[in-house]
Amino acid sequence: MSYSSFTPPRRTLMGPGPSDISPQVLSAMSRPVIGHLDPLFVGMMDEVKALLQYAFQTKNEFTIALSAPGSAGMEACFVNLVEAGDQVIVCRNGVFGDRMVQNVERIGATAIIVDSPWGRAVETNKVAQALVDHPEAKFVAFVHAETSTGAVSDAKTLCALAKQHNCLTIVDAVTSLGGVELRVDDWGIDAIYSGSQKCLSCVPGLSPISFSANAVEVVKNRKTPIQSWFLDQSLVMSYWSGEGKRSYHHTAPVNSLYALHESLVHLHNEGLENAWARHKAQHQVLAKGLAKLGIEFIVPEDERLPQLNAVYIPEGADDAKVRGYLLNHYNLEIGAGLGGFAGKAWRIGLMGYAARNENVALCLSALEDALAQ
Ligand SMILES: *Cc1c(COP(=O)(O)O)cnc(C)c1O
Repeated sequence: MSYSSFTPPRRTLMGPGPSDISPQVLSAMSRPVIGHLDPLFVGMMDEVKALLQYAFQTKNEFTIALSAPGSAGMEACFVNLVEAGDQVIVCRNGVFGDRMVQNVERIGATAIIVDSPWGRAVETNKVAQALVDHPEAKFVAFVHAETSTGAVSDAKTLCALAKQHNCLTIVDAVTSLGGVELRVDDWGIDAIYSGSQKCLSCVPGLSPISFSANAVEVVKNRKTPIQSWFLDQSLVMSYWSGEGKRSYHHTAPVNSLYALHESLVHLHNEGLENAWARHKAQHQVLAKGLAKLGIEFIVPEDERLPQLNAVYIPEGADDAKVRGYLLNHYNLEIGAGLGGFAGKAWRIGLMGYAARNENVALCLSALEDALAQ
């Protein structure tokens, strides 16, 4: 048996992530490896932190990129803040809300589940009622941008409700960061996590996270040790904010962090609000084109995510055949339905670098061709 190098094809990625990566971000990956405690690397990490604070719109001191994918960011928020016996109100309107429930239950805490229909925003009135019914609840957790259904929830209102009842908020911003309005400080979000491979258009495998001062206080005053050594952020804090004297916690994924730095520089240069506007504008062009093809959206217009377009598979079209045709004839990837939407929906991503005229035009013409076949 002999092996040779793996050479992936060049695809256009318009699914639920990973998203298209700009050539500059990709080439940043191949720069020389330097030590992760090298003073120059440490300087770059400080910039990553500042750029993440900009992307999250926060002054939170504890704002870092976790060396692991978004799922680890989710787990980090739950295992650091929540202890066995705590009550957590978890909003569930898709696959990722359900994963939050599983995180809470594995800790030995109680998840008070507030279900909203798939394909819709979290129903804020139900959350308000749950807060009244469960005065002992300590946290409210929800997914800002449900990638499984394409719905955006009203994070500002949910956080305000939580505050009225002295609950801290845990927010999934994996798909929202860089794609839609998100203001951690203004909205009073306490713990938030994202992913590198969605609207930041970086390589997969990193999870930006940020904790408010109140959240850090909760971590410091825990009664029980955090059961995960790797995700115990009290150990990582000294690595990121050791003021010049960083200590070894784990080996940082040096080259992936070059890529994240590069993608965050691009976001900063474009301007966050311009990036949000670009996603919206490209979504509107795509929506018009899809309407012409007779393809219908699952989510009502005012609850739609511009960066994740969940649509019903048209009558008579074969799910796997169409997606296979796009991949084989156009090198174009769109997403299949997830969970309850498997076989019923496609998810067309316009994330980060993929939210461009060329991509939208390619997607529409390729879909038209695929459906005609
Ligand atoms: C993609 C995603 C995750 C998980 O991120 P990974 O990097 O795949 O682990 C979590 N939540 C949401 C909303 C996502 O879209």
